[in-house]
Amino acid sequence: DDGMSADGAVHRARDAFVVAQPIPSFGATQQVDLLISYPLSAAMAPYQPMLLAILMFSVFGAGLLVISGGIVAKSLTRPIWQLDQAVQALAAGDRKPVDVPGGDEFGRLAQSFNMMLGDLEAREAAIVQMSREDAETRLANRRAMNDDLQALGEETAHVAGIRVMRFRHVRAAIGHTAAAQALVVLAERVSAFTDGAVPYRISAADIGLILPASSPFANLEALRRVVVACSQPATIGDASVDLLLCCGLTDPDAGRGAPIGQIDQAVVAADFAEKHQTQAAKFDLKEYGNPAATLSLMSEMLTAMTEGGLELHYQPKYCLTESHVCGFEALIRWHHPVRGRIFPDHFIPIAEETGHIRQLTEWVVSRAIEDQQMLKAQGFDLPISVNVSGRQLNEDSFALWALGKVKSSGARLCFEITETAVINDPEKALRIINLFRNSGIGISIDDYGAGLSSLSYLKQIPANELKIDKSFILSMTNGQSDQLMIQSTIDLAHAMGMSVVAEGVETEHAMALLKVMGADSAQGYFISKPQPIDAMLDFLRTEEERACA
Ligand code: C2E
Ligand code: CA
Ligand code: CA
Repeated sequence: DDGMSADGAVHRARDAFVVAQPIPSFGATQQVDLLISYPLSAAMAPYQPMLLAILMFSVFGAGLLVISGGIVAKSLTRPIWQLDQAVQALAAGDRKPVDVPGGDEFGRLAQSFNMMLGDLEAREAAIVQMSREDAETRLANRRAMNDDLQALGEETAHVAGIRVMRFRHVRAAIGHTAAAQALVVLAERVSAFTDGAVPYRISAADIGLILPASSPFANLEALRRVVVACSQPATIGDASVDLLLCCGLTDPDAGRGAPIGQIDQAVVAADFAEKHQTQAAKFDLKEYGNPAATLSLMSEMLTAMTEGGLELHYQPKYCLTESHVCGFEALIRWHHPVRGRIFPDHFIPIAEETGHIRQLTEWVVSRAIEDQQMLKAQGFDLPISVNVSGRQLNEDSFALWALGKVKSSGARLCFEITETAVINDPEKALRIINLFRNSGIGISIDDYGAGLSSLSYLKQIPANELKIDKSFILSMTNGQSDQLMIQSTIDLAHAMGMSVVAEGVETEHAMALLKVMGADSAQGYFISKPQPIDAMLDFLRTEEERACA
């Protein structure tokens, strides 16, 4: 300490309180130092309880802090954590309400969250319901049917499609709302007649049914009866609407491997039934073929037209009374570089459906006129018959084009048409046919007897020729009935001022019979198969030589 005398030594130690004290010394001058020492622990001893108290207070305080922190955390972070968990679960599609009691902000937030969950559930249920329902008719829709079919097992169940025939016409006539009501009436009827099967709307005009393998309705005969029973007029408002029905049926085994599912198969089968005017048809995988392969067929046909894949073959018509060739029919041939020969029966219907038939017919007419001029230059001036599809008899522009073409070339043409060509819009078709006749183009009724022949139409068509369908001629030597049909057709045609061509003459016997029966000309393999123009020219020269000999 600074208060110590100069002769006293002052020592400081880190851990002891040291005071100078007298120490015996040796020597002349004796110096006395005083060292007083006192242990620090002893000095601190009175403070120990206090220190202990401070320590205890500190531990207690820290403990209190932890506990109160925990309480605060529980009341603050736990509801937030719970809400966060619930939101995450909601995002993952799991809807769990949060349980946060109390009327504080968190409690109210949780209540709002739970209310939102309820709304969400109700809305979602409504959306699911809507997605399974047809908006127009409120019937279960195709999606619902698909789900139910999967649930039942697509590999065992059958699907039926009950079709309202000419539905587009019905809808155009009575409007969408009334047409939808008619479908609802039909659906109720169908369900009642099939022991309560659930009706689905699977396409605009089709009511679908799922028929388990054990169902007594899972066969064509039973469905035919259902179709007949349901084909009664429906009363919509004040009007009575005829429901003309047909139906398609699938078979899970027969349709296996098809590129489309059973619901589509049922629609395709119903299309078939409607097209062939039959009450019920089964889906036929072979008949269905591979439509995907025909998607590019028309563009390939157009390419073939310009690049030389299409060709005309000619088949002579042989005059039975005068025994000479009296004309040709032009028949189209398509040789595809990859698929090989494509038959007209395959691509002509597609061309008719897609509207490409117009370009095709114009190509055929132009080529036939060129070939005719070539034959004429070689001394064979004969008329050429071209097949013209019904669709074109409703097109003024085609008629004008053809008339212009014939006028400018002086060609001798005959158009072969079928009776059904006139059915869609008889007035227009007959006007155009008359135009052709007045311009010197012959009109021949093709495939007579094969379709739904109707005398009322036949009488109206100003045709100069009638071709008896080859199906009758091919089988004429087998039985009496075809001969009767042929004889009466020849007589009828003559009475109406038409000449008669028999097509499909394959034997000498058939040709002789037809001559006796009074047919005017014959066409068929017995005379010649359809051949390219050069081969036809050789054929004509040989015939000429034979006639002269
Ligand atoms: P179609 O007008 O009835 O033509 C007659 C079909 O019978 C031709 O078949 C011909 O090759 C075949 N045929 C001829 N003689 C006999 C015979 O003695 N026996 C048998 N079994 N068959 C015979 P193709 O050439 O396959 O034509 C099929 C159909 O395609 C034609 O039937 C016609 O409707 C259509 N078609 C062909 N070319 C054209 C065309 O240029 N335009 C249009 N729109 N249709 C065409
Ligand atoms: Ca023909
Ligand atoms: Ca024919």
